[in-house]
Amino acid sequence: MRTVSLYVHIPFCERRCPYCTFYHVPKTDRAMETRLVEGLIGEFRIAGADLGRQFQIPTVYFGGGTPSLLDHRSFEILIDEISPFLTAGSVEITVESNPEDVNERLMQNLSGIGVNRLSLGIQSMSSRAQNVLKRCTPRSNEQAVRIAKRYFQNISLDLLLGIPGGTARELEESLAAVDRFEPQHVSVYCLEPGGVIPPDTDDFFDRVDMERAADEYLLVCDRLRTRGFGHYEVSNFARSGFESRHNKVYWNGGEYLGIGPSAHSFIEGERYSNVPSIDQYLAEWPMFPRTVRRHEVRGETERRLEEIMLDLRTSVGTPLDRLKCNPRLVDELVDEDLASIVEERLVLTDRGYLVLNEIVHRLSGGPWAASA
Ligand code: SF4
Repeated sequence: MRTVSLYVHIPFCERRCPYCTFYHVPKTDRAMETRLVEGLIGEFRIAGADLGRQFQIPTVYFGGGTPSLLDHRSFEILIDEISPFLTAGSVEITVESNPEDVNERLMQNLSGIGVNRLSLGIQSMSSRAQNVLKRCTPRSNEQAVRIAKRYFQNISLDLLLGIPGGTARELEESLAAVDRFEPQHVSVYCLEPGGVIPPDTDDFFDRVDMERAADEYLLVCDRLRTRGFGHYEVSNFARSGFESRHNKVYWNGGEYLGIGPSAHSFIEGERYSNVPSIDQYLAEWPMFPRTVRRHEVRGETERRLEEIMLDLRTSVGTPLDRLKCNPRLVDELVDEDLASIVEERLVLTDRGYLVLNEIVHRLSGGPWAASA
């Protein structure tokens, strides 16, 4: 049976983090949530019909925004709707949660409806850094992890690097907390502009020290590896068997359906993106996919470069065969300690991951691109 993973975008946030470039809106009232859930279900039904209703969903990811702001009844309605399609016995269902929202009731409710993976954006364990990021206190992070561990055996923690004014000591505080919290998975992101909306304050990213962020990244890669985490993707580390199955679908070229404003899909080799506007989404989803979902037209070279880029994000790397028109570049990357060759595949080093975009740019300018 065909498998299609499902991403559900919940765009609500309590307040805006100054570094945020994800599509989100303030949650104004219950009525808006009700309309969003109606839209998500409507979109899922129409997209499901397009797929001939003959598919199974092996992984579900509720991302945002802040999915943990969603009312429990909304979660129940959404899970009820998709449950006939879930792969029996082995589905992975992740919910991103703000540590401030974690309490016994939320954790009990989520685990009660089959959520089996929790992603917590703790970001840092320094009070100063959390203040800069306008996030909760380290104490709230600590309490959230303590409660979450009573209900989930698969917890992922997000850390941010390059926080303005950050110090080596602050990073050590965060890493010591990761040791203490014993999560199964850690995601590490360098603060950088990009995404669908500009940052809150013009100068936030001016204050990010990219050189320090790079040094922090190399240190964190080293530290997490020595603690037994596998570095399986540029930003992701996991204990054996706890790699995110959902995110692996993205990197391995599997099919996924994204529902909700700003969600992305990859179906039958084509990419689609939903409009990043809740107003437009709610007004127009009944006409889906004509206006809400946009087809991203890509040329052959772009597709192949994208495949290589996705490969290079992972610790499995990309087959040398794919790069055979540009062997000199492969040699250069190895000489520069940006990559190594493992079983006929080019695999980036930690230093290579730091300049992944630059490497892809170098590939795109080579003879490979012209003859691909
Ligand atoms: S970073 Fe996350 S929680 Fe903060 S505003 Fe953006 S989407 Fe919301």
